[in-house]
Amino acid sequence: MTRITCLGSSDAFNSGGRANSCFWVDDAHGAFTVDFGPTALLAIERLKLDLSRLDSVFVTHLHGDHIGGLAQLLCAYQHREKRRRPLTIGGPPGIERRLAAAIESAYPSLSRRGLGFPLRIVRWTVPGTTDCGGRTVSAIRARHDIHAIACSLRITTGEHALTFSGDTGWQAELVELAAGADLFVCECSDVEAGYWAHISLTEIAAERATIRADRLWLTHFGAASRAAALARAQELDLTVADDGLVLELGR
Ligand SMILES: [Zn+2]
Repeated sequence: MTRITCLGSSDAFNSGGRANSCFWVDDAHGAFTVDFGPTALLAIERLKLDLSRLDSVFVTHLHGDHIGGLAQLLCAYQHREKRRRPLTIGGPPGIERRLAAAIESAYPSLSRRGLGFPLRIVRWTVPGTTDCGGRTVSAIRARHDIHAIACSLRITTGEHALTFSGDTGWQAELVELAAGADLFVCECSDVEAGYWAHISLTEIAAERATIRADRLWLTHFGAASRAAALARAQELDLTVADDGLVLELGR
C-alpha cells in the first residue's frame, strides 16, 4: 500500500493561507516526503502524522519554499524526538552545501553538538536514476533555476510510481517521466503561459491528452491558478491538491 498525503499546495508565498507545496508518502519501507519547506512541520503536526516514521526526504530543488524546514526538522529530531535511527536526505547536486548553510544560519549548535543520529546525504544523478532509502529515484533537470540544478522526480516505491514535476517550466520530458505513473503531481503556479520557470494551467490543458499517468494532481498554486484549475478540474480530469488531501493506492 502507498498513501500520499498533501502537506501543502501553495506557491512560495503561502497564497490563500495554504502551506508550501510538499507531499508525505507512506509505503512499505516507512515514510518519505517530497520537499520540506518552512510549513512542513506545521502540516505534519496538524495532520497528526507520525514523525518517527519518516526515513527520507527527497528534495526536488534548493529554493526556500522547498527546503526551508529542513533545519527545523533536524532540530526537532535532535532536541524533541531524541532520534537515533538514520535519516536520509536526497537532493540535487549542491544539497550538501545548501543544507550545511541552512543549519549554520538557523541552528549553528546542531552541527557542533552533533545530531545524535546518522544523517545520510544522497545526491541525485541528473539525468539518471539513484537508489535511495529503498526506493528508486529518477531525476531529470527541471527548467527552473539557472544558478542551480532543479529536478523533476519519478519515485518508484516498489509497488507504485509517483512523478513530481517540482518547480519547472513545461517541457516534453515531463510527459515521459510521468508515463504509466500511478500519480503525477504537477505544479500549476500560473493561469496563462509566459514565464519560463513555472507551468500554467493553459499549458496543462494543452498537454492534458499527452499525460499518461493514472491520476493528475495539481499543486504549487497562487490564488488565481487554483481558482482556474478548480473551474476546469472535471473537464481536464485532474484533482486540485488541497492541504490534507489523501490518496491510497492499493496493490
Ligand atoms: Zn516553489
